[in-house]
Amino acid sequence: MKLKLKLSLPTKIFIGLVIGIIVGLIFGPKAKVIEPIGTIFLRLITLVVVPLVFVSLLLGTAGVGDIKRVGRMGLKTLGYFIFTTILAITVGLLLANLVKPGSGLSQDVQARIQKTTVDQSSIDLQKLQKPSTLDILIEIIPTNPVKAFTEGNMLQIIFLALIFGTVFTMIPKNKAEPILTFLDGLNEAIIKIVHIAMKLAPYGVLALIASVTGKFGVSVLFTLFKYAATVIGGLLLYAIVWNSLAVASLGKMNPFAFFRGVREALLIAFSTSSSSATLPVAIDCLDRLGISRQYSSFVMPLGATINMDGTALYQGVSAVFIAQIYGIPIGIDGQLMIVMMATLASIGAAGVPSAGIITLVMVLKQIGVPLEGLALILGVERFLDMCRTMVNVTGNLACSVVIQRWEK
Ligand code: ASP
Repeated sequence: MKLKLKLSLPTKIFIGLVIGIIVGLIFGPKAKVIEPIGTIFLRLITLVVVPLVFVSLLLGTAGVGDIKRVGRMGLKTLGYFIFTTILAITVGLLLANLVKPGSGLSQDVQARIQKTTVDQSSIDLQKLQKPSTLDILIEIIPTNPVKAFTEGNMLQIIFLALIFGTVFTMIPKNKAEPILTFLDGLNEAIIKIVHIAMKLAPYGVLALIASVTGKFGVSVLFTLFKYAATVIGGLLLYAIVWNSLAVASLGKMNPFAFFRGVREALLIAFSTSSSSATLPVAIDCLDRLGISRQYSSFVMPLGATINMDGTALYQGVSAVFIAQIYGIPIGIDGQLMIVMMATLASIGAAGVPSAGIITLVMVLKQIGVPLEGLALILGVERFLDMCRTMVNVTGNLACSVVIQRWEK
């Protein structure tokens, strides 16, 4: 008798993840040899991101029909994004103040941590620059659309999609219809590519995780345990409690069904550290949860670029942690400043790996905490990035459920 084991894709991806960690631990840096498999998978799903964001957001906007509804849905979505971002930072700040992960270190230990983390980190501190808030806002408007596409500038691409999607509702129907039908076909084709790429997911995830674990080692993943535990505890608390509440009360969906339905997207978010790369899989999960493309195509691409609850929470904890390490007291106004800056910083962060630590510079500068403090957290950055990306994606998925309910 032939025994046939039929596992679902999320199970296979999860098994890939676990095997990847084991392979990384056993082979250490040598695990890098299988990285190309992961890179191929990553490139396959990244390849569709720019066209997907543009086409699906344009169709989502045009599909809403009239401009008043676009505006209303846009406002609701933005309102939800801003509310959840502020909520997430508040959770982060409360925990950081309660746990005080950064206090009580002797200067000697502090110096040692700084040295090892700088040596082990893969990010060059010198390259981190402070993007100005005003620049982020002005540069949303592209002067050259082609450049926006070739550079993969997500905020600019979103701007183009929103503006085109909106004007398609304002021109005569017989002119708009053929282009929208064409784009709809293109959209289907893009999603098909995602389905094909997902067949590779378990192997891709295995390879990606093996090389990360091999490169950084568990010792690094677990350095700065208290800080990392505060961030992870906050992320878990926020992601599970708030999103379950939002999905159940505002979205009228069973939270278990929700989390079950989106687990593929969460595993991909964890292993790619990129909300943008997770986008195709996330939209696909929402399809299966019965969320119409009318809503998911609008909320998800927008959210992958501007709504990052996990990143915001992480920035709140990190800012307070670094301030505690340096013994800099942060009062109420300082904390409020963190809320404001981390909101902007998470909007400005692109949905790619390590974007959040770069915009954290903006927060630290504003509250007058030494940027050298970043060296302390760079060692655990990659792992925290994986975790916060999952939370970013969960926030957007839950928002899609809520918006569908509000609009229906
Ligand atoms: N990697 C995160 C994301 O793509 C952004 C960040 O670095 O916080 O959602």
